Amino acid sequence: MDVVSFLTSYNGWLSKQLLSDEVNVRHTCFSSLSVKASPLGMMILLFVVLLGTSSLAQQSADKPKIPLPPYTPVLDTTAMDRSIDPCTDFFTYSCGGWIKSNPIPPDQSSWSVYSKMQDENRELLRRILENAAAPDPHRGPINQKIGDFYATCVDEAAANKLGAAALKPDFDRIARLNSKADLAEYLAYEHPTDIGVYFGRAGLFRFGSGQDAKNSAEVIAEADQGGISLPDRDYYLKDDTRSKDLRDKYLAHVQKMLELAGEPSSQATADAQTVLRIEAELAKGHLSRVDRRDPHKIYHRMSLADLKALSPSFNWDRYIAGLKAGKIESLNVAVPEFFKVMDATLKAEDLAAWQAYLRWHVVHAQARWLSSSFVDEDFNFFGRALTGQRELQPRWKRCVNYTDRSLGEALGQAYVEIAFSPQIKKRTQDMVKLIEQSMATDINQLTWMSEPTKEQALTKLHAVVNKIGYPDKWRDYTALKIMRGDLLGNGKRAYAFEFERQLHKIGRPVDRMEWYLTPPTVNANYDPQNNSINFPAAQLQPPALDLKLDAAPNYGNTGGTIGHELTHGFDDEGRQFDAKGDLRDWWQPQDAKAFTERAECVENQYAQYVVVDDIKINSKLTAGEDIADIGGLILAWMSWKEESKGQQLGPIDDLSPEQRFFVGYAQSWCGDTRPEASRMRAMTDPHSPGKWRTNGVVSDMPEFQEAFHCKTGQPMAPVNRCRVW
Ligand SMILES: [Zn+2]
Repeated sequence: MDVVSFLTSYNGWLSKQLLSDEVNVRHTCFSSLSVKASPLGMMILLFVVLLGTSSLAQQSADKPKIPLPPYTPVLDTTAMDRSIDPCTDFFTYSCGGWIKSNPIPPDQSSWSVYSKMQDENRELLRRILENAAAPDPHRGPINQKIGDFYATCVDEAAANKLGAAALKPDFDRIARLNSKADLAEYLAYEHPTDIGVYFGRAGLFRFGSGQDAKNSAEVIAEADQGGISLPDRDYYLKDDTRSKDLRDKYLAHVQKMLELAGEPSSQATADAQTVLRIEAELAKGHLSRVDRRDPHKIYHRMSLADLKALSPSFNWDRYIAGLKAGKIESLNVAVPEFFKVMDATLKAEDLAAWQAYLRWHVVHAQARWLSSSFVDEDFNFFGRALTGQRELQPRWKRCVNYTDRSLGEALGQAYVEIAFSPQIKKRTQDMVKLIEQSMATDINQLTWMSEPTKEQALTKLHAVVNKIGYPDKWRDYTALKIMRGDLLGNGKRAYAFEFERQLHKIGRPVDRMEWYLTPPTVNANYDPQNNSINFPAAQLQPPALDLKLDAAPNYGNTGGTIGHELTHGFDDEGRQFDAKGDLRDWWQPQDAKAFTERAECVENQYAQYVVVDDIKINSKLTAGEDIADIGGLILAWMSWKEESKGQQLGPIDDLSPEQRFFVGYAQSWCGDTRPEASRMRAMTDPHSPGKWRTNGVVSDMPEFQEAFHCKTGQPMAPVNRCRVW
């Protein structure tokens, strides 16, 4: 999967837009019409949906039928390795066969049930896009956009003509800067068309909009840390051999790219040093990923005058005027320290150094869409060296991803029409309802929480909005112009469309039904500021949700995911937001203390687990996900027991119904990761590896010990267990 330096905070669009790169799943969302919309609003929204689908249906009436991905059951006994003792290593017992028969493909840095789902889904999207690209005088506006975007992207011969000359307009603009004061105006030009942002390649800092953390009804401007190209600040700051070695490789990579862009070798060598020096300085101002999990640490609402005082060397007035963002009086400066460091760096480096930095950023942002020498060198470092990926993904795969990023809700319309049925939606809604009821039962039974806090928790639970499948109202892309044959132009216009859409939200009412994941995304999430759980259509397919098989493994798998997202509303981060999505402490002090003690038990448990080499899980980074995994599976168990109450269930394939529940869960995590990618994820991924998402969770559940008759003291049946929810 793509190398991304996504922010792990929930905060605002700046981070939400990058969420879909987290292939590790188990966090995301959906919106149900019935929860919050007024009756009038419901009618309008339904009308829009019907209009959208009927026009699509007409478009596709005489098109060839598009086949769905091959069926994979939610529980596959051939994926197991029954020679392993489930009480010793449940992950390998459940997934040993899968791992053996599913080696990591050369174009991937890791491989799992979810990445396979995504890969197969991509084949379907490819067929949709190829149909949309075919000549057709009656082609509708949606197919024109997605079809032409994709067809232009896959035209490798045309892309191969995009060499250094394609970068010249931007390079000329950089050359024309007269002083460092002009940087503001340049960035106001660059930021709205920065096609590298979707791959975590933002120039100097990030700017956009988001809901105010303390008043989620208000959308305000946001400025955040950025400006580095490696996936995390630690790549610049750590001094071990491996980190130094990667920096050397990075230096060589920057040099090579600048040479490809037309710089003489001696200049490219010097410029690469400059780039690394500036980025290493900026990295010092970055807040760590662990700190970014604390919503208070990334919330600093201040006046524009305060921001100017933090970074007087940057002309904010010129920048904001250049963005045409209207009047911005106050904003959230997520990491004030970053802007101080940025200011000091602006002072310390001369104009020529900044021009070198900006040239690098232009090449870096656009490299993936230039000729093959740029693409190959980009892959050489960001794919091969950083993640261990052996081969570049075929161009069509990259182009499907890019179309999804750029036109996700247009592609999504065509996708759900084919791949998402009312039956799937209904089944998911029923499971969600039951799991929410289980959470209410669970909260009421908690022995460590006092009544006033329980009351608040229940209020929050009942306010959760469930978004399932796709948005009620599709995004309107009418104003976005996509032209066949204009690869870079399409990408830049699509990003500018999105950037302007975000800035336009400032000062306007929040659209709580908006989606931040596209329907073809295999992932899910919880959004604390909208108090919603979100499940895109692509996540609700076999093997994750399998209407052909029994309920037990389905509850283990998708039930566990629903429970996981719901529990995020009450993990160490989510619990700090109230029912409306405002950052507000609604906990009695003794309850907060009891919660923290329980959360620390989980942190200590996961801190023992090895990721790769001698690197253990950074459980302060993964705490929220680990808590959600454990809580989620408990809720799924309670709900399955409730649904199957009174049913006569017998064993299937020598597995009892209870065993099928747990194997169904474990098989959602079957997969393997290359060591390079494991090292990167240990630093950047807030999720624990699949092995521990399985073994860590089941070892906390006495129900598992009973289902597999484990002896107390065996690895999956420890004497001491952790439980938060
Ligand atoms: Zn999660």
